[in-house]
Amino acid sequence: MFFNMIYGLRETWLVAAAATFQTVVVGGGAAGMMAAISAAQSGRKVALLEGNSQLGRKILISGNGRCNLTNLDADSPHHYYGERPDFIRRTLASFPVARALEFFHQLGIETKVEKRGRLFPLSDQARSVVDLLIDKLAVSRVRVASEAKVAQLSRRGNGFSLVTQGGSEWLAERVILASGGVSLPKLGADTSGLALAQGLGHTTTPLCPGLVPLESADPYVRRMQGVKVWAAVSAPASESQLVTDTDDLLLTKYGVSGFTILNLSAQLVPALERGPLELLVNLFPGQSPEQVSERLRERWLRQPHRSLELSFAGLLATKIVGPLLDKLKLPRDQTVDNISKAQRWLLAQTLTAWPIVVSGPRSFDYAEVTIGGIRTDEIDPETLESRLVPGLFLAGEMLDVHGDLGGYNFQWAWSSGAVAGQGLVG
Ligand SMILES: Cc1cc2nc3c(=O)[nH]c(=O)nc-3n(C[C@H](O)[C@H](O)[C@H](O)COP(=O)(O)OP(=O)(O)OC[C@H]3O[C@@H](n4cnc5c(N)ncnc54)[C@H](O)[C@@H]3O)c2cc1C
Repeated sequence: MFFNMIYGLRETWLVAAAATFQTVVVGGGAAGMMAAISAAQSGRKVALLEGNSQLGRKILISGNGRCNLTNLDADSPHHYYGERPDFIRRTLASFPVARALEFFHQLGIETKVEKRGRLFPLSDQARSVVDLLIDKLAVSRVRVASEAKVAQLSRRGNGFSLVTQGGSEWLAERVILASGGVSLPKLGADTSGLALAQGLGHTTTPLCPGLVPLESADPYVRRMQGVKVWAAVSAPASESQLVTDTDDLLLTKYGVSGFTILNLSAQLVPALERGPLELLVNLFPGQSPEQVSERLRERWLRQPHRSLELSFAGLLATKIVGPLLDKLKLPRDQTVDNISKAQRWLLAQTLTAWPIVVSGPRSFDYAEVTIGGIRTDEIDPETLESRLVPGLFLAGEMLDVHGDLGGYNFQWAWSSGAVAGQGLVG
């Protein structure tokens, strides 16, 4: 905000005459800020137009306010999805994790590695990422206009004309669209940026929420609401592909969430478009039903007087055990010396492959990313320039690219922003 006041301006302060720039970037999120910095480093006169009153609002709330900047494994293409998953390869190779870290370290953001290779600022503050990006924009002499939502984009001679909702016109030789996805509409996310690209002939793949909790009508899951367990969750992403993730599973009143579910949703949501799916949950990750059955047998031999329900105390949350026993119609109060081998086997099988039917994702209000976006076969993967409109570049989440949970989506934003900014000719 401070830097906005010094170097930026609100669009309403603009003089009536159209401002002319070599490059205008639409969208002041992760990809747009990186694109503007990258373009300005090549000596171009750059403006950045942001619809919100603040830059980087998604960065500010990312990673629970800590911003999971990138991931040690973010150069691996298998973490990214879209109709053409290979599209990201050149961009990531041009601006890999090492370049992103070098950039952030030069800005002054020191980083630390957490579980699964996730990288965070040492300050644990997303705010520091936004403040230092804004500082870099200012040092790079990028003209920043906030509250400047672009409503029209059209060809003007060899360049472009952009008109904001407030009626200000901006002229540009080159335009970089980086208007993000449509998740979290309360932060101002909408389809207006996609519409600008569509107006020039681009098309989109279907849009759905990604990195999002999944809904389930399972009444037993509802009874377990509020419980978080460590679990391995598997599900079919397609007829031939089973996907699995082991981490936190959160049971909620609407269905399931937690790291496992948000991460798997990147691949499961497109499959959910075709109908409900069955998740299989192993509450003893890495263990087979035989191993779990044996574990129960040993526990029950040591304390044969305990009720079936009490026999799980210290092993599994009570709030899960009760509903699961009810679901299997097993007698909670029966002492374990009276539980048959067949009943123990049924329990072991369910504890290692507990089926939960999910019907679909929660809405965009709860999604971290948008699955789908501008079709990538319309974009040159080398430069991110439109194949349909010379001089138009696209970056970030507005493209049909999304990544796994854990810093991959920001890496895509930094890489694509940097490449779109560098790739400008003239
Ligand atoms: C709650 C939450 C937590 C997240 N945590 C992480 C995380 O820790 N790590 C990670 O890798 N990813 C995370 N993500 C995902 C990540 O935030 C996005 O993938 C990333 O911000 C995409 O960057 P972008 O620049 O493409 O889009 P955005 O960050 O959405 O930026 C687009 C910008 O364009 C502006 N805009 C849109 N239309 C117009 C227009 N017509 N005119 C002018 N401006 C416009 C928007 O206001 C916005 O500021 C999280 C997302 C959410 C919602």
